[in-house]
Amino acid sequence: MSELTCDERRLVDAARDFVAAHVAPHVQAWDRGLADSRSVLPAAAAVGLLGLEVPVAQGGLGLSFGCKRQVAEILAGADFGLAMSVINTHNVANHLARMAAADVSRRHVPALLAGQRTGCTALTEPGAGSDFSAITTLARKVGDEWRLDGSKAWIVNGTHADVVVVYAQTEPGSGARGIAAFVVDGSRSGFVRQARADSTAARGIDAGGFVLEGYRARADELLHPPGEAFKAALASINGARIYVAAMCCGMVHESLRVASAYGALRHTFGKPLHEHQGWRWSLADAAIDLAAARLMVDAAAALIDDGNDSQTAAAQAKVFATRMAGRHIAALMHAMGAEGLREQHPLLRHLAAVQVATLVDGSTEMLLDRVARGLRNTV
Ligand SMILES: Cc1cc2nc3c(=O)[nH]c(=O)nc-3n(C[C@H](O)[C@H](O)[C@H](O)COP(=O)(O)OP(=O)(O)OC[C@H]3O[C@@H](n4cnc5c(N)ncnc54)[C@H](O)[C@@H]3O)c2cc1C
Repeated sequence: MSELTCDERRLVDAARDFVAAHVAPHVQAWDRGLADSRSVLPAAAAVGLLGLEVPVAQGGLGLSFGCKRQVAEILAGADFGLAMSVINTHNVANHLARMAAADVSRRHVPALLAGQRTGCTALTEPGAGSDFSAITTLARKVGDEWRLDGSKAWIVNGTHADVVVVYAQTEPGSGARGIAAFVVDGSRSGFVRQARADSTAARGIDAGGFVLEGYRARADELLHPPGEAFKAALASINGARIYVAAMCCGMVHESLRVASAYGALRHTFGKPLHEHQGWRWSLADAAIDLAAARLMVDAAAALIDDGNDSQTAAAQAKVFATRMAGRHIAALMHAMGAEGLREQHPLLRHLAAVQVATLVDGSTEMLLDRVARGLRNTV
């Protein structure tokens, strides 16, 4: 694991304080759909969470991926949906700050950093998920502008995002080669938002879709031209796989803490659960696998910070961490008996979130394929 700098350690501490003050008190209300997690964005912005990796020259903190991985774990320990929502807005700010035309970046990045606007990245469509190269949202050149038509589905922050990075096909039938990426403004005509995805999994993630109907993107809103967008998406997805794996570690850590505390209070057969050897084993198993997952996450994160190829390490970390979290959060919930099912505890919410984690940024099967392809060069 790369050593964090003093500034990075301060941000990690600030993330813990942010969770205690602004996330933990509200997660049940978000989960029931009674409150909007966006209300905490200004507080997230105030401590720098929305600008973590964004270059200092563009108003961000310019910190490392290793720091982002720590923050992701802390946020998701409280709520995976909120963690994904905050990090996806951060990612759009970082993407635009580094890659967008200066005017486009100036128009959006300061508001994203301040938590006044939210961002999302839209690849998935109703008819194309794992097979990203099969997207059919069409981008056609009309004079200096681009006309976009199509639908996107299951997008983090899709229910409210103002600044949307949209991947679209410019040459039907050309697959990855014809895909380009655009900066889309959710307030302009031709952008029609759809209802929230009707799932109770990770409500704070605000997943939803939208339709583009003759949406006009200006010439400078072409973020990646055809031929480069697919590669750009793959380049950034390794980081996403690693922070999702880190989030799974955060959810197991918190579930362990809750189960362990309950084991000290609940008595069966004349003594606390904790003092029954058979009961303790499920906690020990979770702690062992959590430690292993964190090592994999840290090793993969260090590859990113050192500028090395992280494809296989990122895929391995995400497959291991999601499986580890699914198995152990269920076991820890069981170890709490009926109490584990109560909404005041995070375990059931975390278990549903892990199911989401097995899909986003590369489903388990896609990642297994990635790892298997890597074996051809190493075994
Ligand atoms: C809450 C949530 C938030 C999301 N946020 C975003 C977002 O912000 N942006 C975005 O672009 N997308 C987002 N997604 C979409 C996510 O990336 C897709 O769900 C994922 O890519 C899988 O696509 P799919 O659901 O269409 O499944 P499909 O592609 O239909 O696959 C169905 C199942 O079959 C498996 N499968 C598919 N092909 C193969 C094969 N060749 N071999 C073996 N197994 C296979 C898959 O692994 C999966 O288990 C989100 C999804 C969810 C649930």
